[in-house]
Amino acid sequence: MSPSSAPALPSRRRFLSRLALGASAATVASMLPRPLGAFGGLHGGRKLGVALVGLGSYSTGQLGPALRETMHCGLAAVVTGSPEKGRQWTKDYGLREGAVYGYDDMHRLADDPEVDIVYVVTPPGLHAEHTIRAAKAGKHVICEKPMANTAAECDAMIAACREAGVKLSIGYRLHFHPTHRELMRLSRERDFGRLTKLEGGFGFRTGNRGWRLNKALGGGGPLMDVGIYVIQAACMAAGTEPVALTARELPKTRPELFSEVEETIEFDLEFPDGVRCSGRTSYNENYNRFRAESQGGGWIEIEPAYSYRGVRGRTHLGPLPASDVNQQALQMDAFARNILDGTESIVPGEMGQRDMRIIDTIYESARRGGVRLEVPA
Ligand code: NAD
Repeated sequence: MSPSSAPALPSRRRFLSRLALGASAATVASMLPRPLGAFGGLHGGRKLGVALVGLGSYSTGQLGPALRETMHCGLAAVVTGSPEKGRQWTKDYGLREGAVYGYDDMHRLADDPEVDIVYVVTPPGLHAEHTIRAAKAGKHVICEKPMANTAAECDAMIAACREAGVKLSIGYRLHFHPTHRELMRLSRERDFGRLTKLEGGFGFRTGNRGWRLNKALGGGGPLMDVGIYVIQAACMAAGTEPVALTARELPKTRPELFSEVEETIEFDLEFPDGVRCSGRTSYNENYNRFRAESQGGGWIEIEPAYSYRGVRGRTHLGPLPASDVNQQALQMDAFARNILDGTESIVPGEMGQRDMRIIDTIYESARRGGVRLEVPA
């Protein structure tokens, strides 16, 4: 379509009024906690109990504190390999006696009526094992991103949860952020015309030698850890998943650190109807952004795009309202609501599996020198 035949872009005033009245504002409002009484005493009016598995930096810095703000769920237990951490969490969160489990003990969660949801926050190489154990204990599961090391592992996790009759959700917190919801709304409602040219990057320079550089535990390098956010944003902007892609790994500048995983990788995703996304992720370069341009010359840009706080969006019509919601609290409350209401998660295991199919294909394309590959359905 030529620029002259492209749909007319809305005026700033018309766009802002849609933004205020439209899906994003309404949906975020609907995600905000309702008082427990609104459930008519379901679950005896108590909050659903969450057991955090793995008390590393994300549990300690984000999830534990967020569980103090949630209205529909609260911390009920922890699973850790460290009795000392267990004692500290018991003190900090006032946990009951017997609420500290070891990894080998996870089957005992089946007998703990205070735990409804198990939240897996261990390295990706352990997600499948811990999710399947939680499902076998009859608990609903939230699993952190990336869902597992491979799409095949994701299939096994989804099957185990289905067999146990429990729900499975992925820790995709940005689906609960108003700016990213606005990106999805623009994709769906096409205020700016179709979003066609997408570009994003997430990277930072690290010297840390932990599990993130270990192939068995991390599944890969920055693509698994942070590049996945660019894939997520691209699927949000395209409103669907890519059908094909090419990828290229860049030469390592610090090969002594990156002996098992990539240091920097770039990829080009092809969505149906010619929508393209060029993405880049690195453990050696600093960026945190996403941009979508429309056929008609409109655009939305988010930078920083993937942070816990301070996500900022703007469009060709001006800045989007800044909104520093607690993404983790909204995400966990939404899942508790799914359980209480019998509804489906907006970030289900199938979405985690989709992203792993894309990531598996990116690695395969890079390994084969950048050959174009279809993403398996
Ligand atoms: P971390 O290294 O700080 O914590 C990992 C925890 O797993 C530790 O408590 C560690 O003791 C435990 N663990 C159990 N078995 C282990 C083993 N064999 N080797 C290593 N650790 C083991 O990592 P983190 O930053 O808390 O990340 C944990 C998960 O959370 C990862 O999947 C990561 O991608 C995800 N994460 C998500 C976000 C987000 O914004 N959604 C942010 C950070 C991390």
